Order: sequence, then structure tokens, then C-alpha cells
Amino acid sequence: MGRSSAVPDSSKPHLLILGGTGEAAALARSLIDDMGDRLEITTSLAGRTRAPAALPGQMRSGGFGGAAALADYLKDHRIAALIDATHPFAAQISANAATACDAANVPRLVLSRPCWKAQAGDNWIEFENIADAARSLPQIGQRAFLTVGVQELAPFAILSDIWFLVRLVEVPVDPIPLANHEIITGRGPFSVTDELALMESHKIDVLVTKASGGDATAAKLEAARQLGLPVAMVCRPPAPPGPAVGDVPAALDWVIRLLGT
Ligand code: NAP
Repeated sequence: MGRSSAVPDSSKPHLLILGGTGEAAALARSLIDDMGDRLEITTSLAGRTRAPAALPGQMRSGGFGGAAALADYLKDHRIAALIDATHPFAAQISANAATACDAANVPRLVLSRPCWKAQAGDNWIEFENIADAARSLPQIGQRAFLTVGVQELAPFAILSDIWFLVRLVEVPVDPIPLANHEIITGRGPFSVTDELALMESHKIDVLVTKASGGDATAAKLEAARQLGLPVAMVCRPPAPPGPAVGDVPAALDWVIRLLGT
């Protein structure tokens, strides 16, 4: 069951942002700043972070209960448009959003930050998924900086000969399934200086990351480049078809064009 911070004003077009990313938060702020008098904005969070940062507009938290339930939510809350600004690896909610918007005839836009691009000096080894990266890791390094998120640690549990520096957004509730590890917590943006110091002091010889993109967590790639370290890069799952933009201004333009506000 989700929570909502106030009763939306039903006289205004109601926009639903599927959030959980910096881009979603920035979009909510921009929409409120630019069109808050004409639009009602609700941001939906998965509810995995115990203390999410406050956002302007309405907030709800927790799963909808699948695509059909999301379609019901869209109808019940008279959603005029949905912007899917979830994490590029949040494939299930994005697929559900596509199905639900089709069913409820609600316009949908994907806001997804651009992928990182390898530069001269990078040594990226790309993997289709986390399990493939985990299987190949022993051939790449022995002391891994693991930055894939708390939900993606299980495939690495088989690697009892590798030591992991695991960076998470917050201290996990349950023990993590890795034999040899240290947990550190932190939210971006991270600086190259700090990432260099972290990797050097822990004698890291491989960085493992999802191809999330975005500036907030890009410093680890620059640090790996400077240290000449390999990067096990897990590729993004495919996004559902449909209109997509890469930044907040483009998403604002889409809203203005769509709603004529
Ligand atoms: P997911 O696998 O796409 O979603 C699983 C379920 O969580 C969805 O089916 C939905 O439940 C619920 N859900 C996800 N996002 C939601 C939202 N914004 N509002 C309401 N419900 C939502 O996504 P995930 O489990 O969150 O994460 C998958 C990957 O994305 C992981 O690799 C994770 O590290 C990464 N990631 C996600 C977020 C995020 O905020 N979602 C942030 C950072 C990283 P129902 O089917 O019940 O509606």
C-alpha cells in the first residue's frame, strides 16, 4: 500500500512521474517551478530507500501491484500523462508502465539519462547481464569495487576468492550474501579525487558497474581510467518502445507540447 502526502487538486491535469532517480526529482522540481500553478504532479517511488529525499508535489511509495493495477491507478487518479523517469535498469516497472499506459490510453514518455561512452584509456569489458559479469570476474580481478546496488549482489555470492568493496546507498537491513567484503555507503555525486583515494586505499584491481549513465556516479570511471583498471560494465536492458528523451528540459518540452500549458 502506498502513501500520498496530500489530496491532489482534481481541476488541474495530473502528471505521474515514476521516480527514484535524480532526473525524476529534477523534473518534479522543474515542473512545480514552471507549471505548478497549472499542473498536479505526483512522483511514485518503489519504496526501497528508507529515507528518500523530500520532493515537491505529491509523493506515493510502493509497487502498484502489476501493470493492470497501474492502469487502474492511472484511471482512478485521472492521470493525463506519465513520465517514466525510473532507473535505466528498472525494466519491470518500465514494461508495466508501457502496458498500463496503452491500456488506459495515457500518453507516456521515457526520461532516461544517456549512457556513458568509453574514452581513450578506458578498459571496459561489457556484459549482457550481472550473472555473466559475476561468472567472468575471477578472470579480471581479485579485489573488486562493486557498485551494482543491493538488489544485484546474489550472483557474486559464488565468488569466495574475491574480496569486494561494496558501495550501497544505505546500510542494508539484511546481511549481504558475499563472503569477503566491506560495505561503504554513499550517494553521488562523487568526486574523482575521492574515488581515486578509495580505490587506491583498498587496492582495488577491478570496478564492477551497471551502465547506469549520469554525472553523479561517473567519477569512478575516470578514476579507473587514471589507475589503468579494468571495468566490468553491465549493459542496460532494452527500454520499451515509445517516445524517449535524455534530459529534463526535453521532458519539460514534451509536457508543454502535450498539455499545451
Ligand atoms: P523493477 O525491477 O523495474 O521493479 C520491480 C517492481 O517494483 C515493479 O514491478 C513495481 O512493483 C515496483 N516499482 C519499481 N519502481 C517503482 C516506482 N517508481 N513506483 C512504484 N513502484 C515501483 O525496479 P527495481 O526493483 O526498483 O530495480 C531494478 C533495478 O533498478 C535494480 O538494478 C536497481 O538497483 C535499479 N534501481 C532502481 C531504482 C528505483 O528507484 N526503482 C533506483 C536506482 C536503481 P509493482 O509491479 O507492484 O507495481
